Amino acid sequence: MKPTKQVLITFDYELFLGNRSGSVADCLINPTNQVLDVIEQHGCRAIFFVDTTYLLTLKKNFKIAACKQDFETVMDHITEIASRGHEIFPHLHPHWLDANYLSDTNEWQLINTDKYRFYHISEAERSEIFDQSIELLQQCVAKINPSYLVDSYRAGGWCIQPFNAFLPYFIKHNIKFDFSVLGGFYLFSNAQYFDFSKAPQKTIYQFENDITTEQNNGRFTEFNISSIYIPQSIKLLEKLFMKLYYKITNDHSFSRGEGQIAVKIDKSLVTPQQQGHDILDSAWERIAIELMSTIKQGEYKKYLNTNEYMHFISHPKMLTRHNIKMFDKFLKFASEKFNLETDFRKMV
Ligand SMILES: [Zn+2]
Repeated sequence: MKPTKQVLITFDYELFLGNRSGSVADCLINPTNQVLDVIEQHGCRAIFFVDTTYLLTLKKNFKIAACKQDFETVMDHITEIASRGHEIFPHLHPHWLDANYLSDTNEWQLINTDKYRFYHISEAERSEIFDQSIELLQQCVAKINPSYLVDSYRAGGWCIQPFNAFLPYFIKHNIKFDFSVLGGFYLFSNAQYFDFSKAPQKTIYQFENDITTEQNNGRFTEFNISSIYIPQSIKLLEKLFMKLYYKITNDHSFSRGEGQIAVKIDKSLVTPQQQGHDILDSAWERIAIELMSTIKQGEYKKYLNTNEYMHFISHPKMLTRHNIKMFDKFLKFASEKFNLETDFRKMV
């Protein structure tokens, strides 16, 4: 009998959220279909956190034919993903409320980050985007499974704090499971803000009012996102390899869109007592398919060998052919050696 490992394969299903969003085909449909073929070949299931704030923006712009078309394409794709047996949950990026439409290319520009955090928008806006997001996803999934529960959430850009801003909506919509915490990391900027440095060093834990404080019998369950230590030597080798690989194959995601938002980092919030890893400057990184190269493959295998739980957070928009090939190899290794549990409902 092979030992069991819990492997959560999760995706943030979204366009680029900066200067240029990229297209539905390049960022969502094509890479998702490619990676799903690999995941299913190994008998695994995935979780998709859908950026419903994008869909709500399209809905508001139905007078533009291309927006209506993109809305229908994405809604159908979500239904198809659900029909293949994967989970569908919301993922909100409230700064879509201030997005500009680029009519020449049918793309979007999201440079105003005042509303990046759910915490920074009004109660009316919170209610509007949360309630309508749940409704949209239920619409997609109801065609496949009318009793499907949209009962999990992941915050955009990890901005789930303070949790009190979300609490009424979690209760109202019966959200029980959260996937927003990247334990150990922090980032303080004028757009993104999160501090998970004091989060429980546990894979799965219960909480009530503070997402980084474990509370036994709390009404919500957190699935901590996994991170890995990459030694400097491997990082360096990887940089060299990727540079060469991109040059030879042109297999990269840079041209699909521009996600970089010019954010102001607030160093004053980093006190001498600050613990944990600065997400922008650390030897630790999240575990993600788009960060898995042939150079790092060994580190990922080592991680699985020594841990019982491995929570991937990946983005279809960033996946290259190389990443998907590496993930295929990884899952082959993993499923030969272990019995893989990829259904989060069986982990609680
Ligand atoms: Zn996101």
